[in-house]
Amino acid sequence: MSTLDIIARGGKRAYPPRRSEVTARFWDALAEGQFLSTRCDACHKLTFPPKSFCPHCWHQAVTWIDVPKTGTVYSSTTVHIAPAIFAQEAPYDVCIIDLDVGLRIATRLIRSNEEPVPIGAQAELVVLCYEDGPLFAARAMT
Ligand SMILES: [Zn+2]
Repeated sequence: MSTLDIIARGGKRAYPPRRSEVTARFWDALAEGQFLSTRCDACHKLTFPPKSFCPHCWHQAVTWIDVPKTGTVYSSTTVHIAPAIFAQEAPYDVCIIDLDVGLRIATRLIRSNEEPVPIGAQAELVVLCYEDGPLFAARAMT
């Protein structure tokens, strides 16, 4: 099992994610440091975000799995002029991370210093724990 580091953050999430019947399991596990998603029982492809069916072959049976947290940075950028709802958090970094299991995920990027994170840098998923619940992010392992 891959356990994500949990980083405490003050305040509430600026744009809390919607919880649905399907995604509630994801958010509850994330709060405990687990990153879950669904894998098709027929074609065995992984999907993120988790879905109740397979978007690759439309099979109706999927299995929840614990997704390994490691990957590489495919792309990243710093947001200086943010949408109004995130304005108080700017500047902040976002990235696309290719997880080692083959999932490509867009998420917030946490830097360990002032240096830009190079493309191809090793990174891992982490949990940002706010007062009203968790979010996930990537953190470069430099
Ligand atoms: Zn499938």
